[in-house]
Amino acid sequence: MIARNEGSTQHLPVELSWKQSLASAYSDPLELLDFLDIDPSLIALDNAPKFPFRVPREFALKMQAGDINDPLLRQVLPLAEELSSPSGYSHDPVAEAAFEMQPGLLQKYKKRALIIATGACAINCRYCFRRNFPYQQATGKDRWRKLVMMLKMNTDVEEIILSGGDPLLMDDAQLKELCDELGTITQLKRLRIHTRIPVTIPTRLTAGLQDLLTQTRLDVAFVIHSNHANEIDEALSSRLRALHRAGVNLFNQSVLLRAVNDDVAVLSELSEALFSANVIPYYLHLLDPVIGSAHFDLPLTEAKQLEQKLRANLPGYLVPTFVREIPHKDSKTPIIEI
Ligand SMILES: *Cc1c(COP(=O)(O)O)cnc(C)c1O
Ligand code: SF4
Repeated sequence: MIARNEGSTQHLPVELSWKQSLASAYSDPLELLDFLDIDPSLIALDNAPKFPFRVPREFALKMQAGDINDPLLRQVLPLAEELSSPSGYSHDPVAEAAFEMQPGLLQKYKKRALIIATGACAINCRYCFRRNFPYQQATGKDRWRKLVMMLKMNTDVEEIILSGGDPLLMDDAQLKELCDELGTITQLKRLRIHTRIPVTIPTRLTAGLQDLLTQTRLDVAFVIHSNHANEIDEALSSRLRALHRAGVNLFNQSVLLRAVNDDVAVLSELSEALFSANVIPYYLHLLDPVIGSAHFDLPLTEAKQLEQKLRANLPGYLVPTFVREIPHKDSKTPIIEI
């Protein structure tokens, strides 16, 4: 039988290990534009962005050469538009500082606490609401050990969310140790992992990772972050299907982004691609107004119309809940209630 086409990774000379992929990520937008055969003089870039540029090569391979408007490129390119900061935009748009119980531990909602697992991501998304997060204080080596000690005394928390900086930047041995420790917290029922690494470096979904996710006593929710169907190639879907077959619950969370996915056909295609990979669309977040991201924003009325149209276009289980994070509410807010 002919081997299954592994999507765009076939163009890589050899399959890189995930650590090699991290190390060889593009760190200069001009290099990426050169790879994509795009003339940089056609684009007004912010030449010295405060939030660094970082794009793994696997992600670049999913972009369309020659297309300035490629929806994946747009998510990572530091445009000069980032320098404008309209009123209403801030460095901490979701008021995380107010909910940091300890550096690296956030509790906003009942029964769920969030650990900032690492201080970096494999990719830097220009719309990221944590682009200014004080990671240095929050992460330090083995900081999580102290957080686990604290959680043992906090009987309210039933679910731990590992978020980011991307938790899958920890290697399997480190993650296993963390999961084992979390497993000893008696009141804990669930472990949730939020990560964009499967989308950017699919080889990070190793057999070792699958083992630790299936061997923990905790119920696991694995939430990937994909914004566009072009991000979901065969290299990713085959690995997600394997995780699902092993018993891991898979969800997706997206951000609604102007000129990336603000379109019914694009969002429908995303939901369908996710479902084919055994992933359930969970949330579609309206943009958090972080300084530098205004060019991605959409008015609320437009978002509401999109949600309605999507609902008319798809089975209900493929329509993510459109939510906005309104600081100091006791849950994310479905936009239908705003
Ligand atoms: C979004 C978020 C959660 C999870 O909320 P769900 O509605 O359960 O997905 C938990 N903690 C923090 C700090 C969050 O921002
Ligand atoms: S992967 Fe997530 S946390 Fe990391 S830069 Fe992108 S949006 Fe931000």
